[in-house]
Amino acid sequence: MNATRRSGGTAKRRTIREALERAPGFISAGQLHHEIVERGTPMGLSTVYRQLHALADAGIADTISDASGQLFRACSRPGAHHHHLVCVYCGRAADVDPPDEQWIRVAAARHGFIVHRHELEIFGRCADCAPAEGVAIVDSP
Ligand SMILES: [Zn+2]
Ligand SMILES: [Zn+2]
Ligand SMILES: [Zn+2]
Repeated sequence: MNATRRSGGTAKRRTIREALERAPGFISAGQLHHEIVERGTPMGLSTVYRQLHALADAGIADTISDASGQLFRACSRPGAHHHHLVCVYCGRAADVDPPDEQWIRVAAARHGFIVHRHELEIFGRCADCAPAEGVAIVDSP
């Protein structure tokens, strides 16, 4: 790789990051690639993959896996330990602060484990994807 390609990489990473920030929720590399090309920026799918993994490694993007593969999202809490609520219908997600996580160490210790890291995502249905009828949606006081 020469210098020209490297600076091209920076521009590509910015394009990918901006596309990720426009997405309403978790999105696959394939969907994101389609979106970028559709907006007029030619780019290879392998570049999108590579840059997404670099963003995830840097903590700028969240990544989760579901049945269809790996999904990415721009994280609103880069660098801070947190978890996610993820809508299984539309991929929208919220960054949530963890409560007291002492139970993780207690549970691990009971089995003789020392915890290195953990990932915890909560999957469900977001308010926008809630069924329109038959369910009373009440705001909590
Ligand atoms: Zn996040
Ligand atoms: Zn949803
Ligand atoms: Zn945690």
